[in-house]
Amino acid sequence: MTSRTNEPKERKDPPVRRRAATVPAPVAIEIFIAGSVHVPSSKKARAATGTFIEEGDMRNKGKCIPVVGEQSLYMAELFAALEAVKMTNRDTVFTITSTQSYVLDAMNKKLPSWENDGWVDVKHRNVLRCLAAELKAQRARTIFKVAAPGSPERAQCKKASMLAKRSARIQTEERWDLTIPPDTALPGLPLQGNRQRVFYRSIREIKSQVLSPRPSTLMMLETVRRDAETTFGRHITEADIWQAVATKDILPRTAQFLWKGLHNAHRIGIYWTHILECEDRAICQECGVLEDLNHILLGCKSPGQEIIWQAAESLWRGKEDKWPAVSFGTILGCGLAEFCDENGKAKRGTQRLYQILISESAYLIWKLCNDRVISRD
Ligand SMILES: [Zn+2]
Repeated sequence: MTSRTNEPKERKDPPVRRRAATVPAPVAIEIFIAGSVHVPSSKKARAATGTFIEEGDMRNKGKCIPVVGEQSLYMAELFAALEAVKMTNRDTVFTITSTQSYVLDAMNKKLPSWENDGWVDVKHRNVLRCLAAELKAQRARTIFKVAAPGSPERAQCKKASMLAKRSARIQTEERWDLTIPPDTALPGLPLQGNRQRVFYRSIREIKSQVLSPRPSTLMMLETVRRDAETTFGRHITEADIWQAVATKDILPRTAQFLWKGLHNAHRIGIYWTHILECEDRAICQECGVLEDLNHILLGCKSPGQEIIWQAAESLWRGKEDKWPAVSFGTILGCGLAEFCDENGKAKRGTQRLYQILISESAYLIWKLCNDRVISRD
């Protein structure tokens, strides 16, 4: 038997020494974003985004937001943030700086509850969901910052704003891809731990998707938007109009009258033309024309409307110098009125006075008209 003691000992393999991987240091950039809304005379408003990195950077640009959808500063800021996220690669640490806190609030504060509620009842969720998904797809950190007044960041945001303004004026058609990156968003509504009202709203939302807006409502909304923009000099969205009717300064019965007016749902004029033996009710007995709410409130020769508007004006002039022109659109949209002092500060008391004065005057004219028709019948 041979001894194995003299055999050379097997040497263990030296441990594998891995060379430390050279991880490239993450590149950090700051992107300044801004939105702008341009309202040309006799045309619809257009909103655009501005994204600015530094002077001479090829990625600096302005871009109009999609034509379909709300044209507001809020929407422009959301699209600007989306543009900023899409222009960087997934491993870039970047800061999005704006003068507004819309995006910061949406992504840092409201996102968890929106996701938990399955995005039910969330306005502008197509862009918000896309933005949230794009941020989740990022492998590096993203920071949102609001530029303080007077800071150097504020000046950079101004440059982004200039790009946005230029694009909003040119009004070009731009392509936006709102496809959600895969594996970044959970579809549907979580069943566990959710509330009944969220499920109820979700069902209502699905049902309302099949309903198309009434043409007469759309016509009324357009009248209110046009008149209110001309009189109060501010950009107005459809959501602003519905919100203005629900303002707490207008009494519920008066608000209901205005709401019905916005839907053209009062039983006057054309409503009676389809009812047998009631066709004559469609015509104003005083003026001999087809009656509608505009005629009753502003055009009828019957005693009432003219006197009431004169009284409203004299009451207003006791407080203010300038009496805003009364039109059908400003009556239905009286909640949209905005009055500011010489420093640009909102005069809340004047706004309330205007809203109450106009809405109650219109409602009084309407009641007088009803009383007149009922006593005649
Ligand atoms: Zn009349």
